[in-house]
Amino acid sequence: MSELKKFVEDIIKRTAAEHSQSNMFLEPIVGFASAENPLYDKLDELIGRPQVHPKEFLETAKTVIVYFIPFSRETVKTIQGKNAISKEWSRSYTYANEILSNIGRNLHKELELNGITVKSEPPTYTNATYDSINLSAKWSHKSTAVIAGIGTFGLNHLLITEKGTAGRLGSVVIDAEIEPTKAREDSFCLYYKSGKCKVCVEKCPSGALSDDGSFNRFRCNAYLDGKNIRDSEQGCGMCSSGPCATRGF
Ligand code: SF4
Ligand code: SF4
Repeated sequence: MSELKKFVEDIIKRTAAEHSQSNMFLEPIVGFASAENPLYDKLDELIGRPQVHPKEFLETAKTVIVYFIPFSRETVKTIQGKNAISKEWSRSYTYANEILSNIGRNLHKELELNGITVKSEPPTYTNATYDSINLSAKWSHKSTAVIAGIGTFGLNHLLITEKGTAGRLGSVVIDAEIEPTKAREDSFCLYYKSGKCKVCVEKCPSGALSDDGSFNRFRCNAYLDGKNIRDSEQGCGMCSSGPCATRGF
């Protein structure tokens, strides 16, 4: 492992471990993608909406660093087999966003001290790269995670990693080279692997997910808007609570 790769991994893992609620999470999974990866040129076509290229973020971009913060098994168990999220799940979502912000801040601080430029997005959609008409992000942490091989897309339209789909993702772009991690050739989703699971589709309360692989983000968003007004626990999480919640297949 290169010195810089280890330095970056150490910052991410140490920052996550320093959070006061770190016991609600497993150790982060970290991946690296080259900003020159040809898949970035095809994302508009693959996703079907305009996406920001790493070099639009940072003209001198060389590497995208991506990190996944998995929720603990205990937290996941609080929503498995249920039709509603728990207090623990809702709190994990908030704490994970804090951890992602801390990681972004520490990567900026510690890499820039070493002469490396860092560009990042906050973990929530309050920025110029969110398309509010199509309700979609123009910078996809998930796509970078797939390019960097830390997971694959599931029928739930989320990232599934070796530690599952329940968790939160972040990424930053830097102007230094780090050897890319390899993309996976197989899928971590049981449905895409064997056709044997559709739990996410069956549990989705809004009908946004379908076994033809489509995702109606307007349905999902309308459901979440209504739910968040009347429910003290924010978010849904039902598509993260299937058999892939804590493992990839
Ligand atoms: S719940 Fe089943 S079908 Fe849905 S993403 Fe997970 S493994 Fe795939
Ligand atoms: S967040 Fe809820 S409503 Fe939206 S796709 Fe997932 S399960 Fe369906």
